Parts: sequence; C-alpha cells; structure tokens
Amino acid sequence: MKQIDTVNIIGGGIAGLTTALALKTNGINYELFEQSPEITYQNVALGISANIRHILKEWDILEETKQLGTEIYDFHLVDNKLNYLKSFKLPKPALSVHRRQFHKLLYSRLDAQHIHLNTQKSIGDFGENEVVISADGINSSIRQEIYPNLKLRDSNQILFRGISEMVLDKKFQNSYHDFVGQNLRFAIIHMGGNYYSWYVIKEKKTFEEVLFDKAALKSYFKNYHAIVHQVIDSSENIYPAELLDIDPKSRRGLEWFNKNTLLIGDAIHPTTPNMANGACLAMEDSYLLAGLLSHENLTLRQIFEVFQKSRTSKVNPVVFYSWWFGKVVHQNNKIIDDLVKLGMALTPRFLFDKIYSNVLIETNIKNR
Ligand SMILES: Cc1cc2nc3c(=O)[nH]c(=O)nc-3n(C[C@H](O)[C@H](O)[C@H](O)COP(=O)(O)OP(=O)(O)OC[C@H]3O[C@@H](n4cnc5c(N)ncnc54)[C@H](O)[C@@H]3O)c2cc1C
Repeated sequence: MKQIDTVNIIGGGIAGLTTALALKTNGINYELFEQSPEITYQNVALGISANIRHILKEWDILEETKQLGTEIYDFHLVDNKLNYLKSFKLPKPALSVHRRQFHKLLYSRLDAQHIHLNTQKSIGDFGENEVVISADGINSSIRQEIYPNLKLRDSNQILFRGISEMVLDKKFQNSYHDFVGQNLRFAIIHMGGNYYSWYVIKEKKTFEEVLFDKAALKSYFKNYHAIVHQVIDSSENIYPAELLDIDPKSRRGLEWFNKNTLLIGDAIHPTTPNMANGACLAMEDSYLLAGLLSHENLTLRQIFEVFQKSRTSKVNPVVFYSWWFGKVVHQNNKIIDDLVKLGMALTPRFLFDKIYSNVLIETNIKNR
C-alpha cells in the first residue's frame, strides 16, 4: 500500500527484528524501538523448523543461520534410562542454532540509524495516521492496554536450559533426545560440533525453583541415566523460564489490531515451547505482514484482517498441541505415566506426522 511512509515497530525480539528485515527486503521504511540497551538474548539454543527455511532464504540469511548451529534429522523419545520409546526422522530437517548469535545476525542486517535502543514506547506515542506493529512480547503492555481482560495461561511448569560443551556418542549428533516420564522432562539437542543444548521441564511448586543450581537440578534426576548429570555438569549457564501462553479460546472473536496498531508474535499468540515454535511463528508473521504491506490495492484494515485470518489458522493448532503435549507427558500418577509411555511406544508414525504437520505448513504470500 503506497500511502504508508514508515512502519513503526515496538520491540526488538525475533518478531520485531524480522519484521524490520522483511520490510527492508520489501523496500518499506521502518523505525524499530527497543526498551533494552542492546539487541541480544540469553546464551541458549533456538529450534527453527523446516518451514522457515524458504523465508530465511528470501531474507538472504539462510546460509549464515546454518553456520550458527546444525541440522536435526532424528527425534527420539526415551525413558529415564535412555531406553528408546519411539524414534522417527523429521519429515524435513530442522535447524538448532545459537539464539544470541541469531539475534546478532538479524541486527547486523538492519540499519543502525533506524534502530532506537533504550526506547520504551506505548500506543500514545504515535499519531493516528502512523502504522504501529506491536512486537513487544508475551507481557505486551500494548495488548494489556487494548485487552485488559485477556490473561496469560500458566502451565504450572518451569523450564531450565543451557548449552553444554562436551563429547557425546555419535547417536546424539544431529538429533533430539527427549527423556519423558516421571512428571519430568530432560532434552538433549545437538547444536553442532561438541555443543549440545539441554532443558529440564518440571512442575512449578514453591519457591524452591528460585534457588536453583546444578546440584538442585541433578537431584530431580537421581534414577536417570548418567548422561543427564554429565550434561548438567558441563553447562556454562542455567536459565529459568515459566511456561505460559494465551489459550486460543480466550482470544476467539478478538481483533489482533486496534486502529493502526497490529499485535504480532508473542504479543498476541504466545505458545508454550513444547513444539519449539513460538519464534518460528513470529518469523512467519513478519514475512506475511511485510508482503501484505507491499500490496498496493489493500487498505490497512484489510491487510490486518487478512493477516489475522491467515495467521489464526496456522497459530491456533500449534498453540493447542504445544499445550496438550506439555500436559500429556507430565503425569503425577505412575499408572497414567506408564500408559502414556506405552502409548508413545505404540503410537503409529502417522499420528506424529499429523501433529507435526501443523508446524510444517509453509507461509506463502504470493497466493494471497
Ligand atoms: C524456554 C523457551 C524456549 C523456547 N524455544 C523456542 C525454540 O526453540 N524455537 C522457537 O521457535 N521458539 C521458541 N520459544 C518461543 C520464543 O522464544 C518466542 O516465541 C519468541 O521469543 C517471541 O518473540 P517476540 O519478538 O514476539 O517476543 P520477545 O522475544 O519477548 O521480544 C519482545 C521485545 O520487545 C521489547 N519490549 C517490550 N515492551 C517494549 C516497549 N514498550 N517498548 C520497546 N520495547 C519493548 C522487549 O525488551 C523484547 O526485546 C521458546 C520460548 C521459551 C520460553
């Protein structure tokens, strides 16, 4: 749409940075406002599903992104003793990359004069004719201003994660091992070379988790294969995160926009990370949005409506299955826990493919 001079982006996370990059690729001006003093992220891994490759390619960062990690071909569900419950090849390989470096790469492709650090923005800072993209994350103050009653959903689970440098057996290379059962999860994901990312997910109970350290984390895994302890011991850092989302049912019927402001990424559709896909959804948002904004025959309202309709059908199943999977694999009751593991061992491949196919749908703006 020709009348847009500049798009204002609030937030310099993956949604904001990739929106800026997508706009730049489409020849549209942007100004990005980030409240923090720098564009960065924790020293953790980022899983990027195969459907994002063509987007990274169009943004001309696919090859550089690949250099930040490795490809994941195999997915294994294992029990506490590393007995394989279910293994399958991903239909198309995912990428497992260093997240802080990925943010750095995105930043390096943008124009510094259009990035405003240490700058916190709200809707009131912009005029009625200015286009504002609210990419201010799961705690979005813009969303809270527009929809004060739309609340986050707490899974009552807490995640700890880090990156370990160590030599592991060949079977851990280019693969994802997810230890499930006993109301706990532990995962080891290759990141290339001798680097492996890992995470723990456990029920959130009291303040015990605030005082976490390696010894405390290892104490949850007393009857586990020794590799779990080795990976935790080799980790340089440990970062905690609460697992929250917004139940798609609670935002049903709500517009993702208000006048000239559109919510994208975690600001409107946060998901628990059980399918490692929230950032991928944000990148798809950016890609689709920039394409629509380049469309000369659509009004801003039409663009926002098409955007929401298209993204709802993609985002809602991913949020749903992430939540569902996170709940199913965390069972307090030992009998149900054993049944879930048995179910995983017996579940046919096509069911995994069917659930994962929700992630793999490619966003294509050319057909819209
Ligand atoms: C433990 C964990 C693991 C995950 N792993 C994966 C994974 O492997 N793969 C994947 O695809 N996704 C993953 N995700 C999801 C992913 O992290 C999020 O979906 C993604 O970060 C959302 O990006 P965003 O830009 O929307 O929000 P954010 O990353 O939260 O960025 C928002 C930015 O806005 C800034 N901001 C906020 N308010 C203002 C304001 N008023 N003015 C200016 N700036 C502001 C913030 O400082 C921040 O920089 C994971 C999530 C968690 C919790």
